[in-house]
Amino acid sequence: MVLEKLGTSLKNTLSKIAKAMFVDETLINELIKDLQRALLQADVNVKLVFDLSQKIKDRALKEQTPHGLTKKEHLINIVYESLVVFLGGEKNELALSDKKPNKIVLVGLFGSGKTTQAGKLAKYFTKRGRRVALVGLDVYRPAAMEQLAQVGKTANVPVFIKKGEKDPVKIYKEFESEYKNFDVLIIDTAGRDALSADLIAELKQVHDAAKPDESLLIISADIGQAAQAQAKAFHDAGAITGVIVTKMDGTAKGGGALTACSVTGAPVKFIGVGEKIDDLEQFNPKGFVGRLLGMGDLEALLEKAKDAISEEEAKDLQSKLLKGEFNLIDLAQQMEAMSKMGPLAKVMEMIPGMGQIQMPKDALQVQEGKLKKWKHAMNSMTKAELEDPEVIDANRIERIAKGSGIGTGEIRDLLKQYRQSKKLVKMLKGAGSPEKLMKKLGGKAKGLKF
Ligand code: GDP
Ligand code: MG
Repeated sequence: MVLEKLGTSLKNTLSKIAKAMFVDETLINELIKDLQRALLQADVNVKLVFDLSQKIKDRALKEQTPHGLTKKEHLINIVYESLVVFLGGEKNELALSDKKPNKIVLVGLFGSGKTTQAGKLAKYFTKRGRRVALVGLDVYRPAAMEQLAQVGKTANVPVFIKKGEKDPVKIYKEFESEYKNFDVLIIDTAGRDALSADLIAELKQVHDAAKPDESLLIISADIGQAAQAQAKAFHDAGAITGVIVTKMDGTAKGGGALTACSVTGAPVKFIGVGEKIDDLEQFNPKGFVGRLLGMGDLEALLEKAKDAISEEEAKDLQSKLLKGEFNLIDLAQQMEAMSKMGPLAKVMEMIPGMGQIQMPKDALQVQEGKLKKWKHAMNSMTKAELEDPEVIDANRIERIAKGSGIGTGEIRDLLKQYRQSKKLVKMLKGAGSPEKLMKKLGGKAKGLKF
């Protein structure tokens, strides 16, 4: 997947929200820090990262949670929406008109992928029922014309080139009478090592001759945030109408390139995701961010977490746990919350990072049947017994078994579970917070049943 690393970090960040007990300023600050780290690693410009995180923080702290959303969902939604805006907002489609031909000029530096994208675009439009032709105006590099001819062959579209001709405008004019036979004309141009006056002059000539409908800047993602200076320079030099960020498949810096382009006001219209002719995707910020964040998985998780335990209940339980008070009623409440979430192992799998915490397998499963029996047994206990299960001796176990119709073995199991949970609660109290406990537990949770 494109930007896999960024996606993983962002998913980890959001999963922290999903599994947090409450949304408070501490959580929001932690979220912001994680988000900043993830974006900086994807080579997003520091100032942009700071602006974005400030916006998210402001919204998270100030906005009322909309009706029908939980605080967690609202927070995740804020992150999602902000990232979408950050990447250009609405999808910016390259719209073709009915005129013949629509002209698209591809500009950019050496090796950015102009010729390759020319072929990809040819295929893209051909697939959508348009008649496409390529025009080769790269008079700079000797092999350029031959390369475009090959690309045309692969895309199965005609190619207009003239080997040996040194004036791009002459080549363009030479075939001008043919162009009306096509819906889309894709014009490949020469690059340079850097944006030079020489290149600008050449592109201006080409623009004057062809009067293109779209002038797309081709930028390689591996330059990361340096894309901003490049996009700005091309933008300032003569209207570009959009950008194709190429080689998104081969770099972790693509986040920098994508966000850099959106600040220049030049929308990213496509991304190149490989060397092959089909490796072109229309760029849609919503879909892109959704995929990065793994919204599908996350939604399912939130859905489950929502059913499992209300924030009030969680607050209640946490304050009890932190005080070290923990009785059988709390145990039942806790187990019930977990059983509602479904097999906890599955839930944990959906949370990246959580899978690494090695809880014993059976600790992750609160068996429905067992839980029911324990509840019956608890119904036969006195209030004093529920609040302080340590008073339950063999005689009392007999009595409870008779009263509830639950076997004495089962009741002993319940008490065992209680003692183990209480141990965990003690550790929790020592650690200060559930997060710290998780860290402390790391792989050592074996033997503890929750
Ligand atoms: P030009 O000089 O701008 O015309 O660039 P080319 O089209 O010749 O491409 C330069 C190199 O980048 C070639 O090796 C292409 O195969 C490669 N390339 C182009 N687009 C992509 C892409 O989206 N992903 C990857 N991995 N390579 C690409
Ligand atoms: Mg080329």
